Amino acid sequence: MKKKEIDLSLVIPIYNEAENLRELIRRCLLVCRQLNRSFEIILVNDGSRDDSARLIADATKTAGNNITGIFLNRNYGQHAAVIAGMTRSRGNIVITLDADLQNPPEEIPKLLREIEKGFDVVGTIRTNRCDSLFRKFFSGIVNSAVRRATGVMMHDYGCMLRGYRRPVIEAILQCRERSTFIPILANSFAGSTSEISVQHQPRKNGESKYSIFKLISLQFDLLTSMSTFPLRLLSFLGTVIALSGMTFGAFLMVMRFLMGAAWAAHGVFTLFAVLFVFIGAQFIGLGLLGEYIGRIYQDVRARPRYHIQSILTEQQQDNPPVSNKPDRILSEYPVNTEKKSYENCYTCLS
Ligand code: UDP
Ligand code: MG
Repeated sequence: MKKKEIDLSLVIPIYNEAENLRELIRRCLLVCRQLNRSFEIILVNDGSRDDSARLIADATKTAGNNITGIFLNRNYGQHAAVIAGMTRSRGNIVITLDADLQNPPEEIPKLLREIEKGFDVVGTIRTNRCDSLFRKFFSGIVNSAVRRATGVMMHDYGCMLRGYRRPVIEAILQCRERSTFIPILANSFAGSTSEISVQHQPRKNGESKYSIFKLISLQFDLLTSMSTFPLRLLSFLGTVIALSGMTFGAFLMVMRFLMGAAWAAHGVFTLFAVLFVFIGAQFIGLGLLGEYIGRIYQDVRARPRYHIQSILTEQQQDNPPVSNKPDRILSEYPVNTEKKSYENCYTCLS
């Protein structure tokens, strides 16, 4: 059965946030009711061990149809919880945010205004980020690495107050990989992205759910969701080591003839040169293995091979694809242009 569509879905992952939940729900409801559009708030309990589950269940009863509670049997992590919420969402626009009120719900209208300019994904930059210096420093490095690797000029991949259009959500839901990093996955399906500045608040209650180990694991999720480039790096490293070994060997040979056997410690250095060549060869071999593993990994996660943004048909459709550029093709071929239009289908084929 097809889900009834609504305008906006908020998806909020919750892990031991009992102290923040009442205020979170009150503020989200207040903001959403003022928007004058249909909305739902999806609260995903990610295996909390405090009172969060009961509070979510209570909220679903008291706030009518607007709140949906999803209860995961154990803790799967923030991104898995968000995906679980997305699976149940019906909104044409989906906004994710944290439950600890570090992302003020009052910023949602700003995010909506931006996405309604026609962007597929809208990210946010925390202007006055209220986190530890270590977290800010670490994020800075990761963000610039991601920008370089993906070529998408977003500045703050760590802020989960983000907006997505339905087609991007559908594409994300077609990906079968277990560990994922949603902002990067979403950008890979977005035709156009934008960023706005938002306020960031310090955590009033509870502590960050990210220990140093969880943070490291998240960074690996981010890295592997982005590319298999590190595997390729092995071959590169191997080639550099092997070439250095060969150059060193040639240099030793020349010096051996010029300066005599004692200069090269009677062949000890030559052994090093040979060793380098063999180590390099091993790395190249590992890199080749990595190439195969990388391809297996791409196939196993079964991401949609491509994402169709629209299909041009004869049928009249109301929503042409959003583009800032003038439609050159239609103006060059004026015949039948009245009948022609774009069918926005956003089909994902795997
Ligand atoms: N969260 C979750 N599962 C986890 C860890 C976190 O659902 O395993 C939720 C958490 O309840 C919060 C959001 O993810 O709503 C962000 O977590 P947190 O505020 O601890 O992250 P930080 O702000 O420190 O990056
Ligand atoms: Mg937080």
